[in-house]
Amino acid sequence: MKNLLELSKAYLKKVFSDLHNVIVGIVVVAIVSGGGVYLFFRSLWTQLKSIAQSPTPLWASGVLCLGLLVYIRVAKVQAKLKEVDQTSTSKTPPYEIQYFDDSKFRWKYKIFHDDSFEVDENPFCLKHDLQFVCDDTYKFCPSLSECGCKLPYKHFNQYFAQVESFIDRQIRNHKKQV
Ligand SMILES: [Zn+2]
Repeated sequence: MKNLLELSKAYLKKVFSDLHNVIVGIVVVAIVSGGGVYLFFRSLWTQLKSIAQSPTPLWASGVLCLGLLVYIRVAKVQAKLKEVDQTSTSKTPPYEIQYFDDSKFRWKYKIFHDDSFEVDENPFCLKHDLQFVCDDTYKFCPSLSECGCKLPYKHFNQYFAQVESFIDRQIRNHKKQV
């Protein structure tokens, strides 16, 4: 009986001893880990404060320089594209030069991209392929003595309107064929 009591006491002592060890272990782990977490956040907070409080933070300078470089690069590319665009525009007029021959004269006209057109009011001599010049009464071929090609002003407006009508038809027919 005495042995049983001693055994029980020894057992309980061991149980309490183990419990004690566990509790101590938990407390130690909590203190160490809690302290570690506290130290970690404290260190992070200190670093953030020092970055925010410095007059020109390093990261801000870096971002600013990078942004500036990107801006300069983009501006240069845009300027280059604009220059190329202007050059191509200046080399290519927004119209084509075409000619229309009637029974007496050759007429030069500009045809624009929207199919509108503009006829030069001084025709060409069909024989000499020379553009007419003007005096007070006529438009005429510079080699008038050889060909006799001339157009009196008093008939010009009516003649010119007829030419415009023919050219308009030619443009419309050409458009149908295309
Ligand atoms: Zn002529």
